[in-house]
Amino acid sequence: MLDSARDSGLSRNGNFLVFKHPLDDPGNLDKIGNHRVLVANKPNEIASKITSETKTIMIAGISHFTKDSGIAELIDAIIRSNRQIIATGLNLASDGKPYGSMPEIMALADEIIVAKALCNQANCDSEANRSLKIKNKFEPRCAYHHKYTDGRPISIDRNGSLEIFAGPMFSSKSTSLEKAIKRYEIKQSPYIIFKWNKDKRYRGEINTITLHSGQRIQAYPINSYSEITDILSNKKNTQVVMIDEAQFIDGLYSLIYDLIPQGYKIICTGLPRGFNRKPFADFPKLMCLADDIKYKNGICVECHDPATENQRMKKINGSVISAHYSDPLIAVGGSDTNNVEYFYEARCLDHWKLDGEPKLRFELPSINNKH
Ligand SMILES: [Zn+2]
Ligand SMILES: [Zn+2]
Repeated sequence: MLDSARDSGLSRNGNFLVFKHPLDDPGNLDKIGNHRVLVANKPNEIASKITSETKTIMIAGISHFTKDSGIAELIDAIIRSNRQIIATGLNLASDGKPYGSMPEIMALADEIIVAKALCNQANCDSEANRSLKIKNKFEPRCAYHHKYTDGRPISIDRNGSLEIFAGPMFSSKSTSLEKAIKRYEIKQSPYIIFKWNKDKRYRGEINTITLHSGQRIQAYPINSYSEITDILSNKKNTQVVMIDEAQFIDGLYSLIYDLIPQGYKIICTGLPRGFNRKPFADFPKLMCLADDIKYKNGICVECHDPATENQRMKKINGSVISAHYSDPLIAVGGSDTNNVEYFYEARCLDHWKLDGEPKLRFELPSINNKH
């Protein structure tokens, strides 16, 4: 990426800014490979370098910025100003938990590439998505060979994994889930599907998911992680666990944290961010645990560009208004007890609207990046 930016002459007018956090490869402080870069350990230092010429900002070691530094707020401001941001960072700390502000950053992303090493445990050829700190050195480990600091037992000798289909509403994530179901039907792997029990789209057939072919597949409607635990303990041969609309399921992050090293293959669909562009419950924490994340977009109902946002609308006494910042995170379609009817639209960021949003911590003048 840096080589092609240099070869294309992008850095001449400050249109392409590259930063790194000083804790990212500190022995090579102001360089990435043989490229000289800017060093910044506060979001303010990055914001102050962005000019009207700047179109792309790259930040290496983004996970080192602390949560209260406002790094997620700066990223949001960069995206809202029509600029592109590319960042690299560690998804998980050596204790196996999400690193710093990575969940908040993942919630804002429109694409994530999960890079993996190879597990360095003897006789293991699994991909490593975790690291272990041994005598001040980090070693790559697969989920099975990662020793959790809280000493949970690791029981089943299969390679567990988490695959995620992420994106806004109307981005055909269910179609991706359907393809996964077909995959495991062909492989004859015992699988179980869970879905949120308040999803009104499935009215009348709460215990099934209907595939495009018309075939109905059994699905368990649930609200919390404990219902998954109960069902799995009764179906001990299960290898694959699929969870539709995972952002709604209470306590799911902790359960999946345990299920991956036990050898389950887990597939989740869900919304990284809510109608308010804030993390949707624990879903972004789940994304930090993932071995693979595929992003899906809808189509903006206003301009037909890719839709990345969930636009919530409200119908009150016949008039339609956009959602308010103080509205609850979860509001299913249909009328609530106050006679407010909620509905949703797929929108791009330009056409996404939210009333009553407080002033953002960082604001950058917008550039027009459309041709
Ligand atoms: Zn391993
Ligand atoms: Zn649009």
